[in-house]
Amino acid sequence: MSTNFTGGCVCGAIRYEVTAKPMTMFNCHCRDCQRTTGGAFTPVVYVPAKAFKITKGSPRYYSTPSEMVGHNKRGFCPECGSRLFGGETEHGQGITASSLDDPGLFKPKVNMWTTDAQPWDHMDPNLPKFEKYPPS
Ligand SMILES: [Zn+2]
Ligand SMILES: [Zn+2]
Repeated sequence: MSTNFTGGCVCGAIRYEVTAKPMTMFNCHCRDCQRTTGGAFTPVVYVPAKAFKITKGSPRYYSTPSEMVGHNKRGFCPECGSRLFGGETEHGQGITASSLDDPGLFKPKVNMWTTDAQPWDHMDPNLPKFEKYPPS
């Protein structure tokens, strides 16, 4: 299978590749995403688990509680702290859009967990918003 896109952390210790189209893309505005990213939300590219491969390095993981999957296993570079991964299940894998080599690939379809969004978090008015998760 040919590589669709690649990415990695800011120091280069962790690299990954994806060999399929994303299943979905979204912005998560929950408090845990705010705290772990230091920003207003996490921009997520969600890809099939089978099409995702770490090609260099070993991320560290920290799990936060998740209403959807029990625990949100969040991956980051142990060297530079860059946030890279989240929402891992047997079916899919979330990747922070900012870690893509070409972040221009990111086209969010929805905003989720807007119930936690900050007043200084300005969202695209053309995108659907969900207080928690969108209906699946
Ligand atoms: Zn790094
Ligand atoms: Zn979140």
